[in-house]
Amino acid sequence: MAMKLAERVVQLKPSASIVARQRVLELQAAGETIIDLTIGEPDLDTPAHIVEAAFAAVNAGDTHYTVPPGTPALRKAIIAKLQRDNGLDYAMNEVIVGVGAKQLIYEAFAASLDTGDEVIVPAPYWVSYPDIATIHDGTPVIVDCPEVDGFKLTAKALEAAITPNTKWLVLNSPNNPSGAVYSREELEALAQVLRQAPHVWLMTDEIYEHLTYDGVTAISLVEAAPDLKDRTLIVNGVSKAYAMTGWRIGYAAGPSDIIAAMVKLVGQSTSCASSVSQAAAAAALSGDQACVAEATEIFRQRRDRMFEILDGTPGLAVRKPDGAFYFYPSVAGLIGKTTPQGKVLQSDLDVSLYLLEAAHVAVLDGGAYGMSPYLRMSFGGAMADIEVGCHAIRKACEELV
Ligand code: PMP
Repeated sequence: MAMKLAERVVQLKPSASIVARQRVLELQAAGETIIDLTIGEPDLDTPAHIVEAAFAAVNAGDTHYTVPPGTPALRKAIIAKLQRDNGLDYAMNEVIVGVGAKQLIYEAFAASLDTGDEVIVPAPYWVSYPDIATIHDGTPVIVDCPEVDGFKLTAKALEAAITPNTKWLVLNSPNNPSGAVYSREELEALAQVLRQAPHVWLMTDEIYEHLTYDGVTAISLVEAAPDLKDRTLIVNGVSKAYAMTGWRIGYAAGPSDIIAAMVKLVGQSTSCASSVSQAAAAAALSGDQACVAEATEIFRQRRDRMFEILDGTPGLAVRKPDGAFYFYPSVAGLIGKTTPQGKVLQSDLDVSLYLLEAAHVAVLDGGAYGMSPYLRMSFGGAMADIEVGCHAIRKACEELV
């Protein structure tokens, strides 16, 4: 007899990206060549000096449990990074290391949410925020941030969303999936509203911090509004900037009481992040930062090429993102069109499935990110895939009537 699973798991939808990935793997296993534009990670190799630091750690016998909040060396590197890049001061007990930024978002919600506590999530959003809030009995409050507002939360929309039950506002800049980057003025406007609501905590997911283009820079909400530092949890990590997704190191910085609660939870879940990965992450944060600029330049070239090919595609409203590595074009112009097989496209999910079958390109539907009708197309992957994939998408769109 099958086990009766916990209600919180039954309620949970599998991550849309993972489902799409599964479909890509199935088609590939069946012998189809699928260009995968769903990927949420850089295809680049981790820079050599970081890999060498990991080998050095292993050879030095650095292969034991570390303390749950993370090695002193890595926490010092994080504190120095926050000072260097963001002008922010944190103490050792205000910083925690996790198995990816994702674990820290998970532990922060686990540490703070009681039943019915609300978490404001501006849409489009990274798929995991609402689900992680739900796992911890929180109530996600999704706030639409339409394209006319640059997919950004406005002060007015924030004000309307706050209730006495609001526990957190999650801000993700640069944003996955829209690529939107909040300016200092936009953050200041949000801060004005937040000052009127002292019970609201801010989680700022800054994992794409360094991946911005055309002179745009991402700043932290705390840089724009230092008075909010005592109720802000900064979440960041090495996955995206240093091509280190598989090393699984993220970090968070915030007031010592929430950090201490998260440390307790880490102590009872993973004990600590990998000692070897922590050594590598310390080398990443404190070493030469030229690799970050080089990676950003590679993504910029991929972004510009993707735009060149897709711009002017019938039904696809393409715009260059300011940050991260995703396009998020509207496909409103494709809804209602008919495929050569006679199927009428009703939704962005239909469009993504059509592109998979007709163009052999995998992209994700905006519905998975809380805003339709859009598609998310990643330029985290190789230029050759972008070339072939985007031309195929263009051709498939041109074949719709
Ligand atoms: N936040 C956002 C917005 C992301 O896109 C991702 C990765 N897809 C994460 C957090 C998690 O990153 P990590 O690898 O550090 O867990």
